[in-house]
Amino acid sequence: SDKRRRWRRGEPQPLAMSSPAALREGYEHFDPRAYLRNNYLPPRADFSSEEFVVPWKLRCLAETFASGEIRGRTLIDVGTGPTIYQLLSACDHFEEIVATDYLAVNREELGRWARGEPGAFDWSPFIQHVCKIEGRGEPWQDKERRLRQRLGRILPIDVHRPEPLGTPLRPRADALLSAFCLEAVSPDRAAFVRALAHLGNLLRPGGHVLLLGALGESFYLAGPARLPVVPLQESDVREALAAAGFALRELRTYAMPPALRTGVDDVDGVFFAHAQKPLEG
Ligand code: SAM
Repeated sequence: SDKRRRWRRGEPQPLAMSSPAALREGYEHFDPRAYLRNNYLPPRADFSSEEFVVPWKLRCLAETFASGEIRGRTLIDVGTGPTIYQLLSACDHFEEIVATDYLAVNREELGRWARGEPGAFDWSPFIQHVCKIEGRGEPWQDKERRLRQRLGRILPIDVHRPEPLGTPLRPRADALLSAFCLEAVSPDRAAFVRALAHLGNLLRPGGHVLLLGALGESFYLAGPARLPVVPLQESDVREALAAAGFALRELRTYAMPPALRTGVDDVDGVFFAHAQKPLEG
């Protein structure tokens, strides 16, 4: 497609045709189960090879947390959605994990899993895979139990507000994680940068931020909802982190293989960024 050619050549994408109002309206139709089906079942969640996208994401997180450098009292996951895969390596290094989402339907879906209720999505293949790549021989049920214990709060959030949680958490978080949220809720690159700067207000100086996100994506589907996404290139991610005041530590990218281009979105690739909020003074 034209979009894909431009992305390959590193040329600017057309302005995303969306507005804050269109985005809010789109999210009113977001179906958590359809979103889970589109992204967290095969072919994307196929653990038979590290070439598939879900194992790639899990490895980025497992390797980054393995250093032991990112740890503390609280980690806030921004735009958790109905998913917990992004917390599996993180939960070993924090006393409390605070999950957040804009939509009540996603907070409810997450709550069902956290309380172990019937009908919750089955994350056990993800937990087993993370235990395998972490290589400590830990029984997966122990990790599942630990994450459930540490998933203390599931709070409403809006990254477009300077104080995304309304009432700020004090003390501020030691680390932030956000997967596929900011580019999927921002009408343009400027709004993406502002949202990133708002996240900075949740984080203590010296704290770490880990971002996973879509490259070259203009929309994704979640049941009846078709959500506009701001198409980002790797350079946009670098520039946005710098503009929001973060120091980049690592940036990795993944190209979506043809077999995983299933029509549920038009994503070209995925980025993983590890950045740090500078110490004041
Ligand atoms: N983190 C999950 C993942 O990795 O699959 C879900 C990502 S999903 C593409 C985007 C999430 O952003 C949805 O859960 C949606 O409800 C949430 N969201 C929508 N508007 C938001 C806003 N203004 N502030 C924060 N999150 C928002």
